[in-house]
Amino acid sequence: MILKKNNKKIAKKKNLSEKKLVKKEKNTPAKNDGEENTISTKGSVRTPALLRGMKDLLPKEEFFWKTLHHTAENLAEAYGFGLINTPILEETALFVRSLGRGTDVVDKEMYSFEDLDGGKICLRPEATASCARAFIVHGMQSLPQPVKFWYYGPMFRHDRPQAGRYRQFTQFGCESFGVHDPVVDAELIAVAYHFLEDLGLKVNVHLNSLGTPEDRQNYLIELTGYLRTKRSYLCEDCKKRLVKNPLRVLDCKNLECKEVLNEAPQIIEWLSESSKSYFMKVLEYLDEINVPYVLQNTLVRGLDYYTDTVFEIYLEEDSEGAQSALCGGGRYNGLVEQLGGRPTPGAGFSIGLERVISVLRKQTDEGTCKIKEVFPSVFFAQLGEQARRRALRLLEVLRKSGIVVAHSFGKSSLKGQMEMADKLKVRYSLILGQKEVQDGTAIIRDMESGIQEIVDQKKLKNALEKKLQPKV
Ligand code: AMP
Repeated sequence: MILKKNNKKIAKKKNLSEKKLVKKEKNTPAKNDGEENTISTKGSVRTPALLRGMKDLLPKEEFFWKTLHHTAENLAEAYGFGLINTPILEETALFVRSLGRGTDVVDKEMYSFEDLDGGKICLRPEATASCARAFIVHGMQSLPQPVKFWYYGPMFRHDRPQAGRYRQFTQFGCESFGVHDPVVDAELIAVAYHFLEDLGLKVNVHLNSLGTPEDRQNYLIELTGYLRTKRSYLCEDCKKRLVKNPLRVLDCKNLECKEVLNEAPQIIEWLSESSKSYFMKVLEYLDEINVPYVLQNTLVRGLDYYTDTVFEIYLEEDSEGAQSALCGGGRYNGLVEQLGGRPTPGAGFSIGLERVISVLRKQTDEGTCKIKEVFPSVFFAQLGEQARRRALRLLEVLRKSGIVVAHSFGKSSLKGQMEMADKLKVRYSLILGQKEVQDGTAIIRDMESGIQEIVDQKKLKNALEKKLQPKV
């Protein structure tokens, strides 16, 4: 009854009949962390919905995506990483064997299904295992080591959609195979840090060491013993983790679990002397290159394959790591062997780009974003069919000389075109009418002063280049 009453009210507000309102709401998918509603109903045809946790990449974010890709490519190349592109589909076994059972990704989040020929395949949930597989199948053990990859592409996890968590998301990552040396770990951390720093983000690296598998095993016995005595204080998830993967309890954000963890044995005290000195060396290198870090003894990362150094990167203001990490990575010396290759050390990181863009967008709204979109400095307005044809040709000449020129062939009135030029805040407009086509000229209008100048079309490129030169 209350619902009916409410519907009446809402329908009145939305100017809809109650019947239509109910129909509309039936067709509306569950809210997708504040994303645009993607359903529309026209007549009786229902537009298929955007899947939950998926995102369309729209032109309004193009600038961010391009900047991120350029930054990633430049950095990876500068540090000697070569691009690798592995398939989105892989054998399910690749991830079960590398990430391990008992991890959320493998137990709950994989898009795994049977292929038409009966094989079990999945959409990759991450790319480190794929890189290790590629390293083995292409016989890269025989190349000079380290073999360094960078990748950039979509990953898929059937995660619970919420802010910063998607079911398809994009990662930029780097992997280094073949060398077990603290300098490799420090270099990887530096690349991830500089990527975020180059985008103007102030971040901190959170660091820990898991030591060798033996160190970890000894520690696990101690930790499990301790957690069992505190079982009744743990959240329901951690009670399950205690049985399946006790290290994951250290990751829990629940306040009561955190309290239990304050007294828990710390992994750093269970490291062998060689693991300890390895970790100290990583820290020394980071000090040397001024990468800020925070030691975080509860940081274990959820996946089985990590050994020695593990790290995550958070915004500086998120010193507790309470929000989502922008980057995660670490060393995985057992991974290649676990997948059937010759024992080969390795280390890497990956950065979630949707999360980075969400921070950049927030900063843009607040006016604090360090990276700025470059808008066209020239608008080309044309009047009449002949001018439009000539404009097409001149636009191409200007494009080839690197001058970004906006235009709107869809608008025919000069007024409409000049309004658009104003909106784009260009410095100059080019105006081409019937008379200019016949004279072989064009008008250059300074949008700030309103002063107009007639220029020969052949000299247009040079005249604009001169005007756009930065003033010394
Ligand atoms: P991981 O592969 O779990 O170590 O994650 C590395 C990075 O990928 C994280 O720090 C996030 O930035 C990003 N990431 C992981 N899962 C998601 C997700 N479901 N949606 C968006 N980004 C994610």
